[in-house]
Amino acid sequence: MLNLKNEALFATKSYIDGEWVGADNGATFDVVNPANGETVASIADLGRAEVARAIDAADAAQANWAAKLASERSAIMMKWYALIMEAQEDLAQIITAEMGKPIKEARGEVAYGASFIQWFAEEGKRIYGDTIPQHQPDKRIVVIKQPIGVVGSITPWNFPLAMITRKLAPGLAAGCTCVARPAELTPMTALALAELAEKAGFPKGVFNVVSGSNSSEMGKELCENDKVRKITFTGSTRVGRILMEQCSGTIKKMSLELGGNAPFLVFDDADLDAAVEGCIISKFRNAGQTCVCANRIYVQAGVYDAFAEKLAAKVAEFKVGNGFDESTDIGPLISKAGKEKVQDHLDDAKAKGATIIQGGTDSDVGELFFTPTVVTGVTSDMKVTQEETFGPVAPLFKFETEEEGVAAANDTIFGLAAYYYTRDIGRSWRVGEALEYGIVGLNTGLISTEVAPFGGVKQSGLGREGSKYGIEEYLEIKYLCMGGI
Ligand code: ADP
Repeated sequence: MLNLKNEALFATKSYIDGEWVGADNGATFDVVNPANGETVASIADLGRAEVARAIDAADAAQANWAAKLASERSAIMMKWYALIMEAQEDLAQIITAEMGKPIKEARGEVAYGASFIQWFAEEGKRIYGDTIPQHQPDKRIVVIKQPIGVVGSITPWNFPLAMITRKLAPGLAAGCTCVARPAELTPMTALALAELAEKAGFPKGVFNVVSGSNSSEMGKELCENDKVRKITFTGSTRVGRILMEQCSGTIKKMSLELGGNAPFLVFDDADLDAAVEGCIISKFRNAGQTCVCANRIYVQAGVYDAFAEKLAAKVAEFKVGNGFDESTDIGPLISKAGKEKVQDHLDDAKAKGATIIQGGTDSDVGELFFTPTVVTGVTSDMKVTQEETFGPVAPLFKFETEEEGVAAANDTIFGLAAYYYTRDIGRSWRVGEALEYGIVGLNTGLISTEVAPFGGVKQSGLGREGSKYGIEEYLEIKYLCMGGI
């Protein structure tokens, strides 16, 4: 089915301490292509004991990796980056096979994911300390930054490659070793990354990938093992809470990138065509399955009907299909449960009085496909207001005043990404400052880049990924007080 140039990238075993290993009991689990239900491969199904061994390997490799010059670590990471970009097409195929996204988006994910490796390979050379004017004549005060130690990552299925590199590239650059536990739905991309990491020359034990279907057992080991000094997680707020509790016993440092419920505001003075374009990108990328996808679209009364009409016309042009088809815009949803949630949100909106102006019918492409849909007349009592839909349904709310729009946008426990469209300079500042979100897009629907800090406030998480801030998450500050001078 896959036509890989480098067949070694089709890896089905886990990668621990520089070795490809199966489960102790020989167990495997199947990875299934959501577009057609076909099994892509059977993958090593590791349990808690094997995760503990991967942690031991990372722990054993930690001191030597931290002792390398930043430029030495950087050289290995740059090689990894180059190998990933060389394998862009193969990796994109693996992503599409196990996750379903359109192949053109998968290629984009490879480049986006690789960019974090390149960025942090550079950034790792700039981990500066500080000197502080002494408080006593015979003392000197120096501040140094050191790698935190072994990092455990737990990542979701929606960006099988980029979630791992966005989390672990800064850690590796800082001098941390790591154990990556990819989502059970998409482990193959992570294993392919391990194959390329080996070729790039990472010493054994520095980068480990453990595949397995029992997320809670594997997660417990990562959270409760004292050798792991940090957990970095992307996924739901529900699981984020569980991991926080599990990490409390060993007081681990944590980065959490959790659920979003992104508002997308269109003001009367917006450039409507630009707003429609931004909404399409933000709402429908990855079939609506990203944590920064617009979930609630608030349109000011003066442009509501015009915006709805333009958006519906664009959505009608989408081609739904198998991700391997170059012309596909919208692939399948990841799972039956995922599709049922989208349908439930739509049914709930309909039952409470919303109107479907585009789509809304079941897709005839396959079981997990969902026809891109636009709904008007959506109100705050509908499910879509409080929860992420994670699917290709665009619900349009109407608002009258700026205050009302901003208040509605902020009326959620989440605070990851928000978007707004206005050409008014005063409003640009006011609304930008008032939105309670970690990432705010003004007149753009596309905000992800390795050079800027990504992360949320409120119950959307802790910490930032990417940018000069991202590496701080993997460093401890040490204050050296020198006396007797
Ligand atoms: P999503 O809705 O994106 O799947 P989840 O939070 O359910 O979000 O899953 C994100 C990642 O967390 C996945 O890799 C999943 O396997 C893993 N996961 C789910 N439950 C747990 C748990 N109890 N402990 C550790 N990891 C978990």
